Amino acid sequence: MNAPEKKKLKVATTSLAGCFGCHMSFLDIDERLFDLVELVEFDRSPLTDIKHAGKCDIGLIEGGLCNAENVHVLREFRQQCDILIAVGACAINGGLPAQRNPLSLPMILEEVYHTSPGLHNGLIPNDPELPLPLDKVHPIHEVVKVDYFMPGCPPSGDTIWKVLTDLLAGKEPNLPHELLHYD
Ligand code: SF4
Repeated sequence: MNAPEKKKLKVATTSLAGCFGCHMSFLDIDERLFDLVELVEFDRSPLTDIKHAGKCDIGLIEGGLCNAENVHVLREFRQQCDILIAVGACAINGGLPAQRNPLSLPMILEEVYHTSPGLHNGLIPNDPELPLPLDKVHPIHEVVKVDYFMPGCPPSGDTIWKVLTDLLAGKEPNLPHELLHYD
Protein backbone atom coordinates (compact mmCIF):
# COMPACT_ATOMS: atom_id res chain seq x y z
CA MET A 1 0.00 0.00 0.00
CA ASN A 2 1.31 3.48 -0.90
CA ALA A 3 2.19 5.83 1.98
CA PRO A 4 -0.40 8.64 2.30
CA GLU A 5 0.69 11.81 0.52
CA LYS A 6 1.96 14.48 2.94
CA LYS A 7 -0.49 17.36 3.23
CA LYS A 8 0.85 20.47 1.54
CA LEU A 9 0.88 23.74 3.46
CA LYS A 10 -1.18 26.52 1.96
CA VAL A 11 0.59 29.77 1.11
CA ALA A 12 -0.99 33.02 -0.07
CA THR A 13 0.52 36.33 -1.13
CA THR A 14 -1.02 39.72 -1.69
CA SER A 15 -0.04 43.30 -2.38
CA LEU A 16 -1.30 46.55 -0.87
CA ALA A 17 0.33 49.95 -1.55
CA GLY A 18 3.53 48.64 -3.09
CA CYS A 19 5.14 48.33 -6.49
CA PHE A 20 5.02 44.53 -6.88
CA GLY A 21 8.81 44.52 -6.60
CA CYS A 22 8.61 42.20 -3.60
CA HIS A 23 6.50 39.78 -5.65
CA MET A 24 9.07 40.01 -8.46
CA SER A 25 11.73 39.17 -5.89
CA PHE A 26 9.67 36.11 -4.90
CA LEU A 27 10.05 34.93 -8.50
CA ASP A 28 13.82 35.36 -8.07
CA ILE A 29 13.86 32.10 -6.15
CA ASP A 30 13.94 30.84 -9.76
CA GLU A 31 14.09 27.06 -10.23
CA ARG A 32 13.51 26.55 -6.50
CA LEU A 33 9.86 27.40 -7.27
CA PHE A 34 9.62 23.81 -8.55
CA ASP A 35 10.79 22.55 -5.14
CA LEU A 36 8.38 24.91 -3.44
CA VAL A 37 5.31 23.68 -5.29
CA GLU A 38 6.15 20.17 -4.08
CA LEU A 39 5.85 21.46 -0.51
CA VAL A 40 3.08 24.04 -0.70
CA GLU A 41 -0.16 24.79 -2.44
CA PHE A 42 -0.65 28.38 -3.51
CA ASP A 43 -3.91 30.08 -2.62
CA ARG A 44 -4.44 33.80 -3.34
CA SER A 45 -1.43 34.98 -5.32
CA PRO A 46 -0.59 36.42 -8.74
CA LEU A 47 0.60 32.86 -9.48
CA THR A 48 -2.96 31.54 -9.23
CA ASP A 49 -5.06 34.67 -9.81
CA ILE A 50 -7.31 33.64 -6.87
CA LYS A 51 -8.85 36.91 -5.65
CA HIS A 52 -9.79 36.02 -2.03
CA ALA A 53 -7.65 33.86 0.20
CA GLY A 54 -9.12 30.76 1.81
CA LYS A 55 -7.68 29.42 5.08
CA CYS A 56 -3.89 29.43 4.75
CA ASP A 57 -0.90 28.42 6.83
CA ILE A 58 1.36 31.25 5.67
CA GLY A 59 0.51 34.64 4.17
CA LEU A 60 3.06 37.01 2.67
CA ILE A 61 2.03 40.60 2.21
CA GLU A 62 3.81 43.43 0.43
CA GLY A 63 2.90 47.10 0.59
CA GLY A 64 1.56 49.47 3.21
CA LEU A 65 -1.85 51.04 3.72
CA CYS A 66 -2.69 54.09 1.63
CA ASN A 67 -6.45 53.70 1.21
CA ALA A 68 -9.53 52.10 2.77
CA GLU A 69 -9.43 49.13 0.41
CA ASN A 70 -5.89 48.28 1.57
CA VAL A 71 -7.17 48.14 5.17
CA HIS A 72 -10.08 45.89 4.18
CA VAL A 73 -7.84 43.51 2.19
CA LEU A 74 -5.30 43.38 5.03
CA ARG A 75 -7.91 42.54 7.69
CA GLU A 76 -9.45 39.83 5.51
CA PHE A 77 -6.02 38.38 4.68
CA ARG A 78 -4.94 38.38 8.35
CA GLN A 79 -8.09 36.48 9.30
CA GLN A 80 -7.32 33.77 6.79
CA CYS A 81 -3.57 33.30 7.49
CA ASP A 82 -2.20 31.52 10.55
CA ILE A 83 1.20 33.14 10.06
CA LEU A 84 1.43 36.62 8.53
CA ILE A 85 4.74 37.91 7.15
CA ALA A 86 5.30 41.58 6.28
CA VAL A 87 7.49 41.47 3.18
CA GLY A 88 9.59 44.55 2.38
CA ALA A 89 9.92 48.14 3.50
CA CYS A 90 6.44 49.28 2.39
CA ALA A 91 4.68 46.68 4.56
CA ILE A 92 7.06 47.27 7.48
CA ASN A 93 7.25 51.06 7.62
CA GLY A 94 5.22 52.41 4.69
CA GLY A 95 8.28 52.56 2.41
CA LEU A 96 8.30 54.85 -0.61
CA PRO A 97 4.54 55.62 -0.60
CA ALA A 98 4.95 56.97 2.96
CA GLN A 99 7.11 59.77 1.58
CA ARG A 100 3.86 61.68 1.15
CA ASN A 101 3.25 61.63 4.91
CA PRO A 102 4.81 65.03 5.75
CA LEU A 103 2.30 66.67 3.37
CA SER A 104 -1.45 66.97 3.87
CA LEU A 105 -3.66 64.87 1.61
CA PRO A 106 -5.68 67.86 0.27
CA MET A 107 -2.39 69.58 -0.63
CA ILE A 108 -1.18 66.49 -2.52
CA LEU A 109 -4.47 66.10 -4.43
CA GLU A 110 -4.45 69.79 -5.27
CA GLU A 111 -0.88 69.53 -6.58
CA VAL A 112 -1.48 66.34 -8.56
CA TYR A 113 -4.82 67.29 -10.14
CA HIS A 114 -4.83 71.10 -10.26
CA THR A 115 -1.47 72.78 -10.16
CA SER A 116 0.96 70.33 -11.77
CA PRO A 117 2.10 71.44 -15.23
CA GLY A 118 -0.53 70.60 -17.85
CA LEU A 119 -3.20 69.71 -15.29
CA HIS A 120 -4.83 73.07 -14.61
CA ASN A 121 -8.48 72.67 -13.61
CA GLY A 122 -8.26 68.88 -13.60
CA LEU A 123 -10.89 67.10 -11.53
CA ILE A 124 -9.98 65.36 -8.30
CA PRO A 125 -11.50 61.87 -8.79
CA ASN A 126 -14.49 61.44 -6.47
CA ASP A 127 -16.29 58.42 -7.91
CA PRO A 128 -17.79 56.53 -4.92
CA GLU A 129 -16.42 53.31 -6.46
CA LEU A 130 -12.86 54.52 -5.79
CA PRO A 131 -11.25 53.53 -2.47
CA LEU A 132 -10.94 56.48 -0.09
CA PRO A 133 -7.33 57.58 0.37
CA LEU A 134 -6.05 57.66 3.97
CA ASP A 135 -4.57 60.88 5.34
CA LYS A 136 -1.24 59.09 5.85
CA VAL A 137 0.35 55.86 4.62
CA HIS A 138 0.59 53.32 7.45
CA PRO A 139 2.64 50.16 8.00
CA ILE A 140 0.55 47.03 8.35
CA HIS A 141 1.49 46.29 11.99
CA GLU A 142 -0.49 49.37 13.02
CA VAL A 143 -3.69 47.57 12.00
CA VAL A 144 -3.12 43.82 12.43
CA LYS A 145 -0.75 41.50 14.28
CA VAL A 146 2.27 40.62 12.18
CA ASP A 147 4.23 37.47 12.99
CA TYR A 148 7.43 38.08 11.03
CA PHE A 149 9.06 41.03 9.27
CA MET A 150 11.25 40.55 6.21
CA PRO A 151 13.17 43.80 5.56
CA GLY A 152 14.52 45.04 2.23
CA CYS A 153 13.31 46.94 -0.78
CA PRO A 154 12.80 44.31 -1.88
CA PRO A 155 14.07 41.39 0.24
CA SER A 156 16.13 39.15 -2.04
CA GLY A 157 14.83 35.90 -3.48
CA ASP A 158 17.35 34.11 -1.23
CA THR A 159 15.93 35.87 1.84
CA ILE A 160 12.37 34.90 0.93
CA TRP A 161 13.47 31.32 0.27
CA LYS A 162 15.28 31.07 3.61
CA VAL A 163 12.32 32.39 5.62
CA LEU A 164 9.85 30.12 3.82
CA THR A 165 11.96 26.98 4.06
CA ASP A 166 12.64 27.58 7.76
CA LEU A 167 8.91 27.89 8.40
CA LEU A 168 8.10 24.85 6.26
CA ALA A 169 10.64 22.88 8.31
CA GLY A 170 8.79 23.95 11.48
CA LYS A 171 11.64 26.26 12.58
CA GLU A 172 11.76 29.91 13.57
CA PRO A 173 13.08 31.87 10.57
CA ASN A 174 16.72 32.70 11.13
CA LEU A 175 18.34 35.04 8.62
CA PRO A 176 22.13 35.11 8.47
CA HIS A 177 23.72 38.56 8.34
CA GLU A 178 24.27 38.48 4.56
CA LEU A 179 20.54 38.01 3.93
CA LEU A 180 19.47 40.84 6.24
CA HIS A 181 19.46 44.15 4.47
CA TYR A 182 17.31 47.25 4.57
CA ASP A 183 17.72 48.70 1.07
FE1 SF4 B 1 8.34 47.80 -4.06
FE2 SF4 B 1 10.35 48.14 -2.30
FE3 SF4 B 1 7.82 48.44 -1.53
FE4 SF4 B 1 8.73 45.99 -2.12
S1 SF4 B 1 9.43 47.29 -0.45
S2 SF4 B 1 6.75 46.86 -2.75
S3 SF4 B 1 10.15 46.47 -3.81
S4 SF4 B 1 8.92 49.71 -3.05
